[in-house]
Amino acid sequence: MHIYSEATAAMARSLADLCLDRLGMQAPLDESRTPAELLITAGETVTADGIGAARAVELWEQVLAPACLSVDHPRYLSFIPGAPTKAAAAFDMLVGASSVYGGSWLEGSGAVYAENQALRWISDLVGLPDTAGGVFVQGGTIGNLSALVAARAAARHRRGSELPARWAVVITGETHSSVKHALQEVMDVDVVLVPGDARGRLTGDAIRTTLATLVPEVRGGIFAVVATAGSTNLGVVDDIAGIAAVAGEQGWWLHVDGAYGGAGLAAPSVRALFDGIEQADSFIVDPHKWLFAPYDCCALIYREPVLARAAHTQKAGYLDPVTVEGEWNPSDFSVQLTRRARGLPFWFSLAVHGTQAYVHAIETTLAITREGRALIDAADHLRLLVEPDLSVLIFERIGWDDADYSAWSAQLLAEGFAFVTPTRHDGRVCTRFAIVNPTTTADDLAQIVDSMR
Ligand SMILES: *Cc1c(COP(=O)(O)O)cnc(C)c1O
Repeated sequence: MHIYSEATAAMARSLADLCLDRLGMQAPLDESRTPAELLITAGETVTADGIGAARAVELWEQVLAPACLSVDHPRYLSFIPGAPTKAAAAFDMLVGASSVYGGSWLEGSGAVYAENQALRWISDLVGLPDTAGGVFVQGGTIGNLSALVAARAAARHRRGSELPARWAVVITGETHSSVKHALQEVMDVDVVLVPGDARGRLTGDAIRTTLATLVPEVRGGIFAVVATAGSTNLGVVDDIAGIAAVAGEQGWWLHVDGAYGGAGLAAPSVRALFDGIEQADSFIVDPHKWLFAPYDCCALIYREPVLARAAHTQKAGYLDPVTVEGEWNPSDFSVQLTRRARGLPFWFSLAVHGTQAYVHAIETTLAITREGRALIDAADHLRLLVEPDLSVLIFERIGWDDADYSAWSAQLLAEGFAFVTPTRHDGRVCTRFAIVNPTTTADDLAQIVDSMR
């Protein structure tokens, strides 16, 4: 298994060829299968003697890969799609072949240096000081959790012996589920739920109003507030400046969740929406969403990395050689230790193309979104539900109920034409376009709009 023979070379070449084919074509949208269907078509694949490379490759190509949706399809517009650049996707293959350990400087200095250059670009977009820094983690979920754990550790340290009975964090209804889950289920921290405005935005004023109603015990336990820079369902950016002002007055940690929308920082046409973000204590953005990297990749950045290091450095005798003072060990900044150098595909693409190409690609998706919005405005059968900030359009088909949306959505997928799922807003069923793929065209959107007549 570990010898590079003629046979392994042939296997590797056939896989490389498949990779090149996939990079070079627009893969079909494909379709999910049930476990029963896959048991029939793929059967038992793990056996005592192995099924051999030829059969395993064939199974992947003909049965398993077609049972996975292509998130980079231009008419995949559900959830948050992905749209890796060719450079990023190609480099991901090399990362896999290179056995790089991305957790410590000692083991991965070249990779960590490159990743940190990519983090620097993002950090500069946010407007954080030169001393800011962090790590690429698996996704927004781990990024949010790691940031909030660091925030609580900093609060504990600052308050010394006067700790509250319960810790709490301020969020709103549109705050991502991963934040609520991190707080309530993983960290056992309470949430103070502040009502959003008409577009679901958390505002500084609303936080002040809620604060005035809280008993001192609850109020005193608040250590952080989470602002969302691009909500997942609505694509709307919170009143970050207003939130930052309250956080500053109260001495709270300001965490900004830009998992989806943070890419908009690079786009001059929407940059003003993020004003105040430079006051963040921590920030995340998922390059695997709107920054064109393959799964999975989240940039997590702290204003004061030393606070994160105090919270996250794992101590064990065998780790002593890697915990050298002054060296940048990515593992010190999140809840994970062993780490794929998962920022490298993103770094490579940024290095190859330059940041201006990213600005252009993000502006392209915003322009397509504006065209999509015009299509919805012009369609008698549709109604836009929320004024968009970024590249999400949420709208309803007048007169449709749950069953109508489900049937229409299933039909689009069965035809291999598009993946657009129903969602809910304000208690009613509706649908949305989430546009992060620069190859999605206004004509793609027009055809979907027409399919709803
Ligand atoms: C997608 C998303 C997350 C979760 O990120 P994962 O990469 O899926 O773990 C968190 N917050 C927001 C706003 C998101 O859009």
